[in-house]
Parts: sequence; C-alpha cells; structure tokens
Amino acid sequence: MSLWLKYTPDFKITMRKPVIAGNWKMYKLLGEAVDTALELKPLVANANHCEVVIAPVFTALKTVAARLDGSNIKVAAQNCASQNEFGAHTGEISPAMLRDAGCSHVIIGHSERRQFYGETDASVNQKSKAALSAGLVAIVCVGEMLAEREVGNAETVVKGQLVKGLDGLTVGDMERIIIAYEPVWAIGTGKTATPEQAQEMHGHIRQTVAGTHGKEIADKTRILYGGSVKPDNIATLMSQPDVDGALVGGASLEAASFAQIVNYERT
Ligand code: PEP
Repeated sequence: MSLWLKYTPDFKITMRKPVIAGNWKMYKLLGEAVDTALELKPLVANANHCEVVIAPVFTALKTVAARLDGSNIKVAAQNCASQNEFGAHTGEISPAMLRDAGCSHVIIGHSERRQFYGETDASVNQKSKAALSAGLVAIVCVGEMLAEREVGNAETVVKGQLVKGLDGLTVGDMERIIIAYEPVWAIGTGKTATPEQAQEMHGHIRQTVAGTHGKEIADKTRILYGGSVKPDNIATLMSQPDVDGALVGGASLEAASFAQIVNYERT
C-alpha cells in the first residue's frame, strides 16, 4: 500500500499526497544551488509517491526554477512580502514576483523568521493571503518553543498560531495551504520529536483546522513535520497517520541525503 493512503482514526482512507520540502535557508551561492538542484533531479525522478519541493535563497530562485523546468521538483521561496501591489517597499519581494520567477510554493512564518525577524501571526496571515492571491501554495509554519512545551503549553501555542495565521482564509483557500509543524527545540538541534510527539501534535493541528474550516478540509490538509528530519528517521515519522510529509533543513543541503529522505519508501 502506498503510504499516501492514510487511515484516519475512524478508519476512513484519505488521499493526502505527501510533500517532502527542503529548506536551504541562507546557504549556497547561485552555482552551488544549481549544482545541488541538478544533482537531485535524477535521484528523485521516480518519486511519484510524494511532491518534492526545494527552497533556495531568493537570488537562486529564477535560475534553479528554470533548470528544473519539466522535472518533478517544485521551487519555493523562504519568505515573501505581505502584498502583491507594486510600491515603495524597499527590500521586499512580493508573492507575484516569486511566481514570476518560477516559484510554485512559499514558506511562511518559519520559526527563524518569527524569532529573529519580527514575524508575527498577523504577518503570517497577511503573507498567506497575498501568497494565495498570487497563485502560490503557502507552507505555513507553526511550532512551540521548548519552554512552552515544558510548561504544558505546546498545544495552546500552536492552536493560537493556527487560528490567527489562518484567520479569514476560505475553505477554497485552504486547498493551497500546507501546514508545517516545526517544534522550535527540534530545528537544527539534532533533537527530533518522537513519532508519538509528532503524531500527537499533528492530530491536534488537524482537530484545530476541523474547528476553523470543517472536517472535510482538515482531512485533506497536508501537515508536514520539521525538526532534524534525517534519512534514518523519516520512515518512522511518515508511518504516523497524521504526518503527511516533512520540511527538512540541514539534511536537504546535500542532494544525496535529501533524495534518501524523499525516497523513504524504498530505503
Ligand atoms: C527547517 O529549517 O525548517 C528545519 C526543520 O531544519 P532542520 O531540519 O535542520 O532541523
């Protein structure tokens, strides 16, 4: 059975095609980004069981997208402006411009942007709306800090991020939203959430989306796990019923290790 047929707790089968996305953060000059993308291309060419996405830095997006044209690898930006209208917004790049550069996806609200660049749930909400109106798929990141988990607040924090971040999105909009649960304590630390911890939070996220947008949408929404995903832990994470893919940082920088993660069904 293909892993993308997921059994929900009430034993219905849902068709959520997994997404494996690589976040290259602020790594790789243009030439290196192109080399890695081209090295990855044949390694994941037969990965029909999932969608493959890579997120290079802004300056590499157009070239990487052009070199991957016709392949099964999609290109995401790591951030975007909160509006599409041209204007006096020095240093900003609109979702429409990302689309123009060949992106199909954009990561919004990554914890590094929330922690170090002033991203808030309100800006996540505005950026998500702008991304959707430009025709992009938005990968909306949520996740608690270690201190919040330790005092038992993880679920409340993540629920708050979702309710505010997805506020005002229609049921139709939600078809192009992917949620990435990334516990901040697991990002780049080598500490992965256990499959049980991931499943527990993913189940909670799905329940939250059912509360805001209805069960039908919740059952269709892809929820990715992110936080020290590696070739040796992806299969167990993916075996959890509500884990629909992964957002991978460090292990996506090398084509070979990212390809092993993408091809988790065969390793
Ligand atoms: C990330 O950057 O979204 C991430 C999950 O990083 P890492 O896989 O390195 O923990």
